[in-house]
Amino acid sequence: MTETTIQIDQLQTLLQSHQEAFERLAQFLLEENKKVNLTRIVDPQQMRMRHFVDSLAVIPALDAIVAKTGKPLRIIDVGSGAGFPSLPLAIVRPQWTFCSLEATAKKVKFQQAAAETLKLKNLQVLHGRAEEMAHQPALREQFDIACGRALAAMPMLAELLAAFVKPQGHAVFWKGSNVQEELTAAQDAIRTMGCQVRRRLPYELPTEDNQMVNFSLVMCQKTKPSPKQYPRVFGMIKKNPL
Ligand code: SAH
Repeated sequence: MTETTIQIDQLQTLLQSHQEAFERLAQFLLEENKKVNLTRIVDPQQMRMRHFVDSLAVIPALDAIVAKTGKPLRIIDVGSGAGFPSLPLAIVRPQWTFCSLEATAKKVKFQQAAAETLKLKNLQVLHGRAEEMAHQPALREQFDIACGRALAAMPMLAELLAAFVKPQGHAVFWKGSNVQEELTAAQDAIRTMGCQVRRRLPYELPTEDNQMVNFSLVMCQKTKPSPKQYPRVFGMIKKNPL
């Protein structure tokens, strides 16, 4: 496993180069958040950091993959909530295609409206549950990258994400500071799903009172197909994690 720190300054520069779209997204999210509960983060600077910059943290690693293969990426965001990380990623990389999968209808509606407002042609929003959709042939092992942020603990996350990933593709987990313990606990789940941990990418983001908080992305590569019985029904995943 390699470890490289993500440079937040670079991500802020990237965000600035799409400033108009991000301002529109922030405004739309704040407006809709008054009607339906989409996010607890309403401070503009915190929204910028904890939703936008955090979503973009994976960009340097994905750009490096594209630099090798020369092909645009097909990405699924599993349990995307109000569209994170998929909306920011779709804004800054219009040449890649995104599928955003969310179980709650009101959040799906918000994302569809946001994609329309921002004229994002590269984002498809799907309403459904990961453990069911991952068995559909049109979605199983069809993506270069599967993203999961704030969805579940790592063993469950591995089971929910890995089946969407193509052979040699990657599952990316957005995690907090206790990533090492989570990785230890998820070793079996990651292996069972046909993946290997390749990279840990630490970074820091400021809180409202300017304390720095540690985060990490974990990138797992799919080296074998995920066994057909996975993911299991949600009750089983929860009751008996891999
Ligand atoms: N990724 C977003 C949302 C995190 S909250 C963010 O980081 O801001 C987790 C979201 O996943 C919720 O919106 C919930 O409705 C959705 N979710 C939970 N389990 C799911 C499942 N099995 N399949 C699809 N979506 C799921």
